[in-house]
Amino acid sequence: MSVEEDVMKIQKKLTKMTSDDGTGQEEALELLKTLQTMAINLEVLTKTRIGMTVNALRKSSKDEEVISLCKTLIKNWKKFLSTPSKDSGSSSKSKKDGKDKEKKEDKDKEKKLQASFPPQSNTTDAVRLKCRELLTQALKIDGDAPNSCATPEELAEELEECIYAEFKNTDMRYRNRIRSRVANLKDPKNPTLRTNFLNGVVSASRLAKMTPDEMASDEMKKLREKFIKEAIDDAQLATVQGTKTEMLKCGKCKKKNCTYNQLQTRSSDEPMTTFVLCNECGNRWKFC
Ligand SMILES: [Zn+2]
Repeated sequence: MSVEEDVMKIQKKLTKMTSDDGTGQEEALELLKTLQTMAINLEVLTKTRIGMTVNALRKSSKDEEVISLCKTLIKNWKKFLSTPSKDSGSSSKSKKDGKDKEKKEDKDKEKKLQASFPPQSNTTDAVRLKCRELLTQALKIDGDAPNSCATPEELAEELEECIYAEFKNTDMRYRNRIRSRVANLKDPKNPTLRTNFLNGVVSASRLAKMTPDEMASDEMKKLREKFIKEAIDDAQLATVQGTKTEMLKCGKCKKKNCTYNQLQTRSSDEPMTTFVLCNECGNRWKFC
């Protein structure tokens, strides 16, 4: 059976799932994992429009794992968009007079492919975009945040999406929720909340639902201390390869499967720097 047929079979099952809510998430996850292993090329993507199906599932699903795998798949497939197939002229099979026609076909293909994907930014709502901007600014308050597991823009978008998913509109409650996140992330007395979010100790879905008490410095400090204490305990046992942890969330692939190493970078009374590696996607970041 061809890849295309296989994809369409999976697509048929997934389409049924997007209509019910909550149920069948485990099966959906299995199907998505299968998709991940398949050799899906530009042609299959264009013909099946599987990108749309997966995106619809991402929107309707409430399962964090399903959502994150959908995002990963879409992101990978989108790479086809930015790298149009080019023949550098060295190939012998490209005939002179066929070239112009080929080029045109390539363009058509690209157009079709563009149409088979959701738009780059998944919202055009002015209020939502403004809220993402405010959250991004709050995350960048110390500058460009080089020690984060994903860019401030990506983290802000994820956080806003979690909040929007809860209210499904941008009314007062949504705006209050955003406002309190922005205020707490910016709070000079509470830099730990921002750090914890930037380096993955606190995930977007968690931060989206936190009460003011939970966001307050004491709670955040406890969480950070807990991580650091575990990190130090583990570091004493750890080998050179580093220590695995499920406490840190990767900002790129959203999985909690990281390995970290700690290093004393300056004098011994300064805190250690933690270097984190995501075992799923290879994303690296560090924090101190
Ligand atoms: Zn990752």
